[in-house]
Amino acid sequence: MGANDFNLVIIGGGVIGCALARELASRFQRILLLEKESSVGQHASGRNSGVVHSGFNATPGTLKARLCVEGNKSLREYCRTRGVPCEDVGTWVVAPEARDLPKLVSLKERGQRNGVPGLEILSGSDLRQREPNARGEGALYSPTGAIVDSQALTLALANEARDEKVTLVLADEALQLTECAESIRITTRRGTYTAQLLINCAGLHSDRIAHAMGVGRDYIVAPFRGEYFSVKSSGKPLINSMLYDIPNPQFPFLGIHVTRTISGSVLLGPNAVPAFGREAYSPRQVNLKDVLELLRHRGFWNALLHNRELFKLGWRELRNSYSKRHFLLQASRLVNGLTLDSLTADTRVGIRPQLIRSDGRLVDDLVIETTPRSVHILNVVSPGMTSALAFARWISEHITDQLAWTRRPAEVLV
Ligand SMILES: Cc1cc2nc3c(=O)[nH]c(=O)nc-3n(C[C@H](O)[C@H](O)[C@H](O)COP(=O)(O)OP(=O)(O)OC[C@H]3O[C@@H](n4cnc5c(N)ncnc54)[C@H](O)[C@@H]3O)c2cc1C
Repeated sequence: MGANDFNLVIIGGGVIGCALARELASRFQRILLLEKESSVGQHASGRNSGVVHSGFNATPGTLKARLCVEGNKSLREYCRTRGVPCEDVGTWVVAPEARDLPKLVSLKERGQRNGVPGLEILSGSDLRQREPNARGEGALYSPTGAIVDSQALTLALANEARDEKVTLVLADEALQLTECAESIRITTRRGTYTAQLLINCAGLHSDRIAHAMGVGRDYIVAPFRGEYFSVKSSGKPLINSMLYDIPNPQFPFLGIHVTRTISGSVLLGPNAVPAFGREAYSPRQVNLKDVLELLRHRGFWNALLHNRELFKLGWRELRNSYSKRHFLLQASRLVNGLTLDSLTADTRVGIRPQLIRSDGRLVDDLVIETTPRSVHILNVVSPGMTSALAFARWISEHITDQLAWTRRPAEVLV
């Protein structure tokens, strides 16, 4: 085997690619983890809310629900053993008005069906004993909700993979992929690699890589920017944990929530603003190629024609992008003590790679597409970070059990 020949190449050094590299290190002899940026975790994985979700929101029976609940447990344990900053602060879903209280009961039942431990519904006054600034008539409390330093987590996973002899190549981008019977060729900016197996964990660009290999053409990534405001405070932080509004089941993203971060600041957000580019982190950035690609896809037009609610919401979010007043209004349903002066636009901005199907529907669960020598992981939206370790285990079992090429393990596995 030459220096550029690998058993397994993973594209994408986000939390998913790094978790997979770590998980598979003991099963493949030569693994390459390829990342186009100069360090890991530069996109969604290092720019998210840093919340380790409990798993009560996901639809029971979905892969997303199962991996979130398992992932929550594994991630908190991992952070404890590896010294990654993580705190079990608990999550509160607040019923802003008395008529919202029955929704907490259904949310609790949903969580229990998903296997989330320790859920309880508490009164408004019980909530205020723990979170004096919280508002609301009652709340669902989940003790397994935690906060984590998401960049430190991704880095810890990458370092562990490297310790297990995974080759990490940074600042090199996969540009072209060619699959043949015996191997797959990956042409990058700086060279060419061959692999017996490729795993695509390229986040915002994962659909393009899948399309280049002839799969996943039914889907396209629609980028949604998540912006945050931070709350200035003199002395104690406004809250100690996380406050969420009751989720709207018609909308794929959780609304603006109030979260204490691991560094002690308090964040409001994220919103979900349609972005004019897959890496358009500022509202002024436009990437024409990305916009035209979306406009050319049937899914975009079908969503426009058939999903009026989503478009109204998208339009409202666009108008309210970086609007202090909008954030204040949303967050004031959950917490007292916010003023326009106390809010500052935060430097943290993330972009969600939300998949749209050609029939216009927004995809809610993970999508895995395969070719004989490649696995494409699409739609790793929230709570993707929470699920990362459980997902890596699941993929690893899936590879062994189900894919055609693993029936010839001598070729792929050590
Ligand atoms: C605003 C926001 C808030 C969120 N909040 C939470 C939360 O609180 N809790 C939670 O659990 N989840 C949250 N999520 C979801 C979570 O962040 C993602 O599910 C997770 O980070 C996805 O990881 P990933 O590795 O798939 O993607 P990414 O982190 O985007 O990694 C993909 C990597 O692939 C690289 N890449 C792309 N193309 C190429 C190429 N051609 N060659 C080489 N490298 C390439 C990119 O540079 C990138 O580093 C949030 C997401 C967003 C956007």
